Amino acid sequence: MTKILKSSSKGSLIVLSGPSGSGKDSVCERLKEYNDNFWLSISCTTRKPRNGEEDGINYFFVSEEEFKQKIENDDLLEYAVYNNNYYGTPKSKIHEYLDKGIDVILVIEVQGALKIKHKIPEAIFIFLMPPTMKDLVYRLKKRGTETNDKIIERFKKAYIEINELSKYNYVVVNDDLDKSTRKVNSIIEAQKCRVDRIEDVYLNNAEEEIHELLIDNKEFENKDIDI
Ligand code: 5GP
Repeated sequence: MTKILKSSSKGSLIVLSGPSGSGKDSVCERLKEYNDNFWLSISCTTRKPRNGEEDGINYFFVSEEEFKQKIENDDLLEYAVYNNNYYGTPKSKIHEYLDKGIDVILVIEVQGALKIKHKIPEAIFIFLMPPTMKDLVYRLKKRGTETNDKIIERFKKAYIEINELSKYNYVVVNDDLDKSTRKVNSIIEAQKCRVDRIEDVYLNNAEEEIHELLIDNKEFENKDIDI
């Protein structure tokens, strides 16, 4: 039987941003319960590892010199300076996963996201928002990984980032981790149904097939079919 539609078998590129403490990493972690068809890109950074962070798992921790070399070699899809540290998305592997039909998620800050939007406008841009600014400070303090000065710096940055919200396609207010994760997953699923992902419509043989099904084929005989 001829299928009517052929949709793109490529994965989607999903960019997830939101201020520090909005819960991006927790959402991605929880997303594994709902979705096993995504790959979380691992960024490079010149920031020092926090307690419990591992090289090659949370980030590739590199020196400033190594980072600059990556820029020079055009190894990064985008990069940005955030709180005096470089952060960047390695190019390698992203297209490999997308071609295999696996969705790729980049958890990056706003400047980097806007660069991706320029390069790959068909990517999906999701902004994760804390329910209130108070929640944001509370979450940053609870994390216990930053000094008060650093928290204030990140808090100021949050204002700047939230101002860029209109450049994103979707916003999810993270007032409940599970609900927010399901919303993010629904956004990803909805992309698969987009009409602009259709590569072909096969209606050429439709009349012939309908004839076959209704007149020549006995398949439907003696069956109750409500149409
Ligand atoms: P953190 O130091 O809290 O791990 O990250 C600081 C900010 O940098 C977060 O908003 C995080 O999403 C963002 N970030 C992480 N990796 C990248 C990256 O590869 N590129 C860009 N532009 N931002 C990143």
